[in-house]
Order: sequence, then C-alpha cells, then structure tokens
Amino acid sequence: MKNQNIPEIIDLCIGINLRATWIYTRMSEVEKIKELKCFWMEMAEEEKIHAGFWNIARNTSQSNLLPDIFENPSASRKELKQLMKKIEILLKLWEADRNIKNALILAYRLEYFMLHPAYEVLYHTLKPLAAHIDLKGTYDRHMKRFIEMFIQYGNITPELELLGETLQSLWLRNKALAEVAVIDELTGLLNRRGFLILAKELSYLSQRKKENMGIFMIDIDHFKKINDTYGHLEGDKVLRGVTQSLKNNVRKSDVLGRFGGEEFIILFPNILPAVLPCIAEKIRKGVETARPEGIHVTISIGVEQGIIQDDPDKTLMSWISKADDRLYEAKTGGRNCVVSNSLKEALAC
Ligand code: GH3
Ligand code: MG
Ligand code: MG
Repeated sequence: MKNQNIPEIIDLCIGINLRATWIYTRMSEVEKIKELKCFWMEMAEEEKIHAGFWNIARNTSQSNLLPDIFENPSASRKELKQLMKKIEILLKLWEADRNIKNALILAYRLEYFMLHPAYEVLYHTLKPLAAHIDLKGTYDRHMKRFIEMFIQYGNITPELELLGETLQSLWLRNKALAEVAVIDELTGLLNRRGFLILAKELSYLSQRKKENMGIFMIDIDHFKKINDTYGHLEGDKVLRGVTQSLKNNVRKSDVLGRFGGEEFIILFPNILPAVLPCIAEKIRKGVETARPEGIHVTISIGVEQGIIQDDPDKTLMSWISKADDRLYEAKTGGRNCVVSNSLKEALAC
C-alpha cells in the first residue's frame, strides 16, 4: 500500500533537524560558559549531519514501503507538526530569558521526538543507505552526550534532574526495543524483518539505476550434527563465527541478514554479474577455512541475480525464492558448494 505519509514524515524530520541546527548554533553564540558553548556547537553540527541523513533517506526511499514501522503514520505526522509549534513557543521563552534551564528544556523538546521507537527503527533500517556519509555523530553518540550534559547541568532544579533521568531510561528502553524489531540478538545482524525492509528499499533503488543486483541464500551444512556433537551453546558460537567470516568477505554496502536459524541472506545492491559467483566461492571457502571454535564448518550457497525489470517488491521475493531453490540444489548436490545461474562463471573462479 502506497503511503504518502512516510515521505512527509521524513520531510518533517528534516525540518526539525534544520530548526535544531539553527537553534543550537544560536545557543552556542550567546552562551558564556565555555563547555556549554562547545557542546551546543557540537549539537548543531550533528543535527546538520542528521538532516543530511534524512535527506538521503527521503531521496532513496522511493517505495513507500515503511508504513508498518509507523503504526499510525497520520498521527505521527500530526504529532511532528504539533512539536514544531511547541519548539517555537519554547524558543520564544528562551529568547526572553536565556538561562540554562530554558535552554535545556528547549533542547529536550528538540531531542524528545527521536525517542519514539519508530524513528529509531527507521534510522537503524535506513542507516546502510547512507553508509557513505559521515555519520560519526550518530544518534547514539548525540543522545548519550545530550543526556550527560542534561544530567550535569540539569540538577540545578529537581524537576530538570528528574527529566534527565526519565530521558535516559526512555532512551535506553527505546534503543533496545528498536533493536529487537530489526536486529538479531545472537549475531547482531539484521533479522528477517529488518533485512526485508532494507532490501525492498534497495531493490527500488537498483531498478531505478538499472544496476545488477544479487541475492545469496546461505545455509550451514549439517548444523544439527554440530549442535548434537558440541552442544547448543557451542552451536551459538559457531553461528557467531560464521557471521564474522561472512562479514569479512562482503563490502559495507552489501546487506547481510540472518534469515532464520542457521540461514543467512546477502543482498548485493550493485554488483557485476561475472564477479558474483566468485564472491560466493570466496565466502564458501572463507567459512571452511575459518574453523569457528576449531570446528570444521561448511556452508552451501544459492545465488540469483539480474537487473530488476518489473515490480521490485515482487522481483525481490521471487529472487529470494529462486536463490533458495538453488540452495536446495546445492544441498542435494553434496553440500559445501555454490549453485548460481551461471555455472560457467562459477567454474572460472
Ligand atoms: P542441512 O545441511 O540440510 O542444512 O542440515 P542441517 O542439520 O543444517 O539442517 P536442519 O534444518 O536439519 O537443522 C538446523 C538446525 O539448526 C536445527 C536447529 O536446532 C539449529 N538451530 C537453529 N537456530 C539455532 C540457534 O540459534 N542456535 C543453535 N545452536 N542452533 C540453532
Ligand atoms: Mg543447515
Ligand atoms: Mg536450514
């Protein structure tokens, strides 16, 4: 279902970030305490980076496939508009009396909306789309630093101190919630939901740019036997070891996810057809030689690739299914091997 609310929500986020950049710069200009002056300037710089991130998200998010992140997108949109109004009121209060308390309350308002789990989820999911921009001031660092300063300077009144503590616990809880929604706890990779949200976005982008895209379905061979022989906890460690080996052999811009128990999936957004089977071979060999926990572990890989011509959403799902069929072929063909749509190219590796 297409939903114009999402791009509008992102536009509102950009608006808030730009306003925050202006306000923090202004606070820095008038602040007398040196530490706070630097702090407001850093906040302004980071808001600028965040606005850049949302801009990329806005431009690449063509598919409008994110409504399930926001349970009620039109309500979120209204909330953001309300927030803009509240920010302007607090700004006037601070302009009338530029004390630390008014500055911190205004900043609290500017940061608070990001505590909605939906924004954390949106941010975590779209983050790889903007892998090339400087995200050293990510939200995590930004919020952590803000909360530290709030607690340090906020204890001038008991109310502010309480606000600071509330903000901290909310932030930690939301971070955990957002991560559970899209991140697999054992491996730290995107889970199936997180992978699919991002993969759909990238499929639209790939179609627009007419770039070749690839999918790997990967499954550990005889993993049940590993669990039976070494125990479940050791099996978990092997899963982490395989994850590390997979990570070592893909680029930052490739999307790696844990699709199920001992199944992984990789999306290569922009890849030359001839190199994909070679990458698969490199990944397969990488796991075999890694020997996680000193155990001989092998994987089988099914590959599908091409240029998306039709509905990217449907194409992605059909490619995943095709890669899965090839994975099955690899299993019946003896395991510890790669099956791709171009056997000749695979043999050339
Ligand atoms: P095949 O080569 O055909 O893939 O054989 P297999 O034994 O790997 O496949 P099967 O589907 O029979 O078994 C998968 C096993 O993976 C069973 C399940 O208990 C185990 N598994 C799934 N998730 C986890 C996990 O998070 N940790 C551990 N230790 N084991 C898991
Ligand atoms: Mg298996
Ligand atoms: Mg399996």
